[in-house]
Amino acid sequence: MSAERVYLTFDDGPDPEWTPRVLDVLAQAGVHATFFAIGEKAQRSPDLMQRIHAAGHAVGNHTFSHRHPWFMSQQTARAQVRDGAKALSDVLGVAPRFYRPPHGRQRACMSDEAQRCGEQTVLWDVSAVDWGPLGAADGIGKRLDAVKGGDIVLMHDGRNQHNRPDQLIQVLPLFLRQLADRGLHATLLPSQSDSR
Ligand SMILES: [Zn+2]
Repeated sequence: MSAERVYLTFDDGPDPEWTPRVLDVLAQAGVHATFFAIGEKAQRSPDLMQRIHAAGHAVGNHTFSHRHPWFMSQQTARAQVRDGAKALSDVLGVAPRFYRPPHGRQRACMSDEAQRCGEQTVLWDVSAVDWGPLGAADGIGKRLDAVKGGDIVLMHDGRNQHNRPDQLIQVLPLFLRQLADRGLHATLLPSQSDSR
């Protein structure tokens, strides 16, 4: 990947409270990101999904209900990927081109299903660890300081029992300013067909 670019990704949304705040910060910085959305949440917040899309961000498939990839039958696991893709394309009118497995746990049948749906599997290079006991603003900021050209960065706009978007949002504006100061441009993930 080109050295001057970085790829911001936000998982586990859309979230009625936090996704709009993340969108505002991205808009203020004039950068684009990829949102790995959960299908059932997308169905509950179609307007928010359309706002993400209309703002020029990309949407990726993060399965229908974010079940752990290892603890379900192969049939259910495949359906999680397929139904996630369908929920997003129903809401947006375009099929997602990227897939990220919940918890970053890759399972062959799910990767295969994603490929059948026309989605490229995307993990990450740097995690903000914006969840759990380590997920306080200070620590998130330090981890984001380490982002360098070409990195895919994992963050979360969707709240659940672990994620802490309230902490992330405290450091996100400064992080984006620092990227710009360092000459790093946050943009959409390149697809396999794009030349790098
Ligand atoms: Zn997730």
